[in-house]
Amino acid sequence: MHKLRCNGCGRELPKGSLKYIVEIRTFADFDGYLEDYGDNVDHDINELLSAMEDMDAKALEEDVVKDFIYILCKRCRDRFADDPLKGGMAAFEGTDVKGRVH
Ligand SMILES: [Zn+2]
Repeated sequence: MHKLRCNGCGRELPKGSLKYIVEIRTFADFDGYLEDYGDNVDHDINELLSAMEDMDAKALEEDVVKDFIYILCKRCRDRFADDPLKGGMAAFEGTDVKGRVH
């Protein structure tokens, strides 16, 4: 049977052991600013749509949103929680942060 291991350190996580799920969602932010397209809006939008048709659908989707799920032991969860980006500072902490960037 497949053994469950911590995605941080690789330690085996036996059945019934304390483990944590870390879900990370990254998504493109839009600040409401649109470039000045002048009089060629239709032309520029058609060019953009044409370029999108040539792109791989999966890559295009991942440019907009990408989710990650990790299973961690307590030690790795605590280390992650202390410094998720290894030196980066959180813009906001807590659960009520969506829609506050702009
Ligand atoms: Zn671990």
